[in-house]
Amino acid sequence: MILAIASGKGGTGKTTVSVNLARVFGSDVQLLDCDVEEPNAHLFLRGTSAGAETVSIPVPQVDEALCNGCGECGRFCEYHAIVSFGATALVFPEMCHGCGGCARVCPPKAICEVDERIGIVETVRADRITLIQGRLDVGKAMSPPLVRAVKARLRDGTPAILDAPPGTSCPVIATLRGADYVVLVTEPTPFGLHDLRLAVDMVRELRIPFGVVVNREGIGDDRVRVYCGTEGIPILLEIPDDRRIAEAYSRGELVVEALPEYVALFEKLRDAVLKRAAADRREPGRTASSIASRG
Ligand code: SF4
Ligand code: SF4
Repeated sequence: MILAIASGKGGTGKTTVSVNLARVFGSDVQLLDCDVEEPNAHLFLRGTSAGAETVSIPVPQVDEALCNGCGECGRFCEYHAIVSFGATALVFPEMCHGCGGCARVCPPKAICEVDERIGIVETVRADRITLIQGRLDVGKAMSPPLVRAVKARLRDGTPAILDAPPGTSCPVIATLRGADYVVLVTEPTPFGLHDLRLAVDMVRELRIPFGVVVNREGIGDDRVRVYCGTEGIPILLEIPDDRRIAEAYSRGELVVEALPEYVALFEKLRDAVLKRAAADRREPGRTASSIASRG
């Protein structure tokens, strides 16, 4: 069972939902922080490090003695990460996605590949939670390969919660692919509704069943509730606008530990998600390894 927690924009409480859901899960659970540009789930879990691995992608290196400046590589690369310049070709590693295509189309075989480090994947154990988080190196822009590296550490047979990056761009798509169910976290405000609509379009395009958590219920209006009702989208949980939750967050504390009266609320979310995910599961034969490879 792989659950993804996403939101159309940052600051809606996505990580709050992810870490507290993991804490009340009631069994061993994997928590994957796929927000590799700004991982923060570790701030709420007092765990011990179980290692870190470097992640690299293959980028082209041109042998100027063999290159004839034909430009085939530049015409192939849709990311403009390699361009012919006079009698040779120049590589811009920070824009390269590591697809290997330029090396394959180079007529004189003047391109080889070298590893370019993009970040690390760390593992932290905190009681029954195994946290796996990616951390993109400063100045690197290629987060989807690092997201896929995080997901490649998924172990079959243990439930997983994926904390997605905010928004609806490529790193989010890379996170959500292969999930059994998506929880979209939003706020009951006009901005929240706008970004929720974008996120709903995204998960519908990906054909993944989903539901909504409304965070800070009470601060806005009922348009999110009306929209979900009209669209037939289940509201799985409403978290009240409670100043004590924000205070616990700012201290790096889990809501379910700082405010035990919220344990039942997150257990209700767990039960609702598991029930709906089981009912909506479309491909019972999927495994973590097949999901990571499709990443
Ligand atoms: S395709 Fe090969 S030979 Fe042609 S410009 Fe690129 S590196 Fe040089
Ligand atoms: S490996 Fe792919 S992305 Fe990188 S320069 Fe070559 S064609 Fe472009």
